[in-house]
Amino acid sequence: MRHFAIVGSGPAGFYTAEALSKTYGEAARIDIIDKLPVPYGLIRFGVAPDHQSIKAVAKRYDKVAETDGVRFVGNVAVGDGVTIEELLGLYDAVVLATGAPNDRKLGIPGEDLPGVIGSAAFVGWYNGHPEFAALSPPLDEGDAVIIGAGNVALDVARILSKTRREFEGSDIVGHALDALEGSAIRTITILVRRGPHQIAMTPKELGELAHLAAAAPIVEAEDFPPAGDDKVLEDRGLAKSVGLLREFIALDPAGKPKRIVFDFFAKPVVIEGEGRAQRVIVERTQLEGGRAVGTGETYAVPAGLVVSCIGYATPMIPGVSYDHQDGRFLNDHGQIGDGLYCVGWARRGPTGTIGTNRPDGYEVAEQVAAAIPPGSDGGKTGGAGLDRVLCDRDIRATDFADWRQIEAAEAEAARPGSPREKFVRHADWLSVLGR
Ligand code: NAP
Repeated sequence: MRHFAIVGSGPAGFYTAEALSKTYGEAARIDIIDKLPVPYGLIRFGVAPDHQSIKAVAKRYDKVAETDGVRFVGNVAVGDGVTIEELLGLYDAVVLATGAPNDRKLGIPGEDLPGVIGSAAFVGWYNGHPEFAALSPPLDEGDAVIIGAGNVALDVARILSKTRREFEGSDIVGHALDALEGSAIRTITILVRRGPHQIAMTPKELGELAHLAAAAPIVEAEDFPPAGDDKVLEDRGLAKSVGLLREFIALDPAGKPKRIVFDFFAKPVVIEGEGRAQRVIVERTQLEGGRAVGTGETYAVPAGLVVSCIGYATPMIPGVSYDHQDGRFLNDHGQIGDGLYCVGWARRGPTGTIGTNRPDGYEVAEQVAAAIPPGSDGGKTGGAGLDRVLCDRDIRATDFADWRQIEAAEAEAARPGSPREKFVRHADWLSVLGR
């Protein structure tokens, strides 16, 4: 028998569990450990609440969790409740699938002012992550600024723009829905430090902005190169996104009270305000060798809320080598050290779609199988040993049956038309379980 621990129950963790389970069959026991009492990581806490079809992938993960030999072990914080060294002693291999839930810093003055929020925190707030449920972002001013030109920037712009009605069928948490309904924000400026040809926004997500009930995207023709230049774009998705932006130029925003303004060639240099964010000082840029270089021309964009959507980093774990430049674990094709692997965003940084994690998980499982031949025995105690450690420390883990109970209670608490009302505090989850 071989014993594997996967740390993190998001997409990367589940695909790795699926791959290891297929590779080793009945000759392996696999524990998927999560610090939260509930599974799915990014699917539950990152994917936008109005993108339910993307969240449906969790059904595939359910099948993995219910496979013989696979366990979900929630409410166990690795690096805190249990150390990596302990896991390496208990299991034949440990795979870190911890994602990239930390916000990257902007590195500009004023970023610590109240009202300046990283996207992990802001997204966590509307998605009911327990760490960010009490965030209370300031929505009382007319202007907001979003920094970054990726899909997270689009998610945030869309969530700030939608009417209550447009959230029907979503699982946005009640506290965010109520706060957003009372929001005074009317102008949302997306600061893009490079040009339309350099965005990281995908067409489906960008296209949604043209169909919002109360908001219209605003794009200026002067920011674009001549239309013929779009032919140089080899990435078909990017070419489509640029085409959509060009269509936005002609949209008539009349009758829509909110504006989503794309400000290209715009680099934030300082965030200013009396006791809270009030404006972002922006420097105009130009492209030099593909890089955004400041021109020296600056201007102020008012903002009572600033959300920086500039990418994420993997949290460090004591004793695990870390790449500070890229904000992920140092690894060679997923291997960190003897018996220790990483996968997903913790391996390659925060890029790609949910589906990218599937080949990633399978590749790491192949690496594990090359080092630990299926059918062999390593004499490790695996989950039984972990259970003893948890018992000694009075750490009460949750299992998949517990999650099913929580899932049912969340479904029961849902608003009409919504799949669930997420509980946002550990205490609420644990009280469902009678603890
Ligand atoms: P991202 O796609 O890497 O975009 C980050 C953006 O931030 C880039 O436009 C980057 O500009 C900009 N940026 C970085 N540092 C900056 C700085 N200091 N000042 C100003 N701008 C800065 O990251 P993301 O939006 O967080 O998304 C992460 C991943 O999740 C991506 O793969 C994304 O596609 C995926 N995702 C997918 C969906 C979906 O499919 N619906 C939804 C959300 C996220 P430069 O290019 O100039 O560096």
